[in-house]
Amino acid sequence: MSGQILDGKAVAARVREEVRVRVARLAERGVTPGLAVVLVGDDPASAVYVGAKHKAATEVGVTSFDHRLPGTTSEAELLGLVGELAGDPRVHGILVQLPLPAHMDTTRVLDAVPPDKDVDGFHPDNIGRLAQGRPRFIAATPKGCMRLLAESGVRLAGARAVVVGRSNIVGRPMALLLTNAHATVSVCHSQTRDLAGEVAGADVLVAAIGRARAIRGEWIKPGAVVIDVGMNRGDDGKLCGDVDFAGAKERAGAITPVPGGVGPMTIACLLENLTQAAGG
Ligand code: NAP
Repeated sequence: MSGQILDGKAVAARVREEVRVRVARLAERGVTPGLAVVLVGDDPASAVYVGAKHKAATEVGVTSFDHRLPGTTSEAELLGLVGELAGDPRVHGILVQLPLPAHMDTTRVLDAVPPDKDVDGFHPDNIGRLAQGRPRFIAATPKGCMRLLAESGVRLAGARAVVVGRSNIVGRPMALLLTNAHATVSVCHSQTRDLAGEVAGADVLVAAIGRARAIRGEWIKPGAVVIDVGMNRGDDGKLCGDVDFAGAKERAGAITPVPGGVGPMTIACLLENLTQAAGG
């Protein structure tokens, strides 16, 4: 058996088209969604992400306000900028690109983004609302994973779902989303005793670890839906996920590739959140 490949590029293109239509409707009401992106320092990977967000935003008709600050910027200066953006009516969403330089307290900075402009969905108010089953903004990567699960046709109610990873930006909100969708959810992490055993029971597996091919193909339950969030460089220098794709696709019912799976969904879902923030 070889599983259905969940084509994130194609689904993300559909999401971006949906956003473009919503943005056009907002334009008829005189509203242009504005996204403020703040990048501190010169981390090359972050610069690539910020460039990609700017391009995708512009393509759907969103105005992107880019703020690039030197790595020597103080936390107080950054908080000052976030405060200004919070009060700027042209800005509907504020995104602070992570990681921040080591001299800054990331939690303090993210907490300063007003919850109604927190299109990343990282503010405790937004995570808390998600935990209570009444979400406002859902973090873009887990939101994209849910859309891919919907595309796979899997029935989540009653399914056994295993999330590997418990970060605030992926694993934790993912587990909350699956719980809200009535799956029976287990969360695994670095101290989980029997990862292979946990994975083997999963009808739905979401891997967000950050370790190349840590999940072996033979662990996958036949017919399972596998969502691989990981983005790693393998020993061969190529981009790969947290799941051994070649082995897993022989057992899975559906599986995301890396690249071309979850990755393209993240920016598309961020733009969806921004449109929502602008009232569209
Ligand atoms: P993170 O903050 O480093 O969290 C990794 C999680 O994996 C932690 O909860 C950690 O457990 C767990 N873990 C580490 N080693 C493990 C092991 N051997 N067995 C089981 N669990 C283990 O990473 P993240 O930000 O969530 O990102 C995870 C991956 O997703 C990375 O490859 C990242 O590049 C990728 N990512 C992709 C996108 C996208 O758009 N496609 C977006 C975000 C992230 P502890 O909590 O116990 O430390």
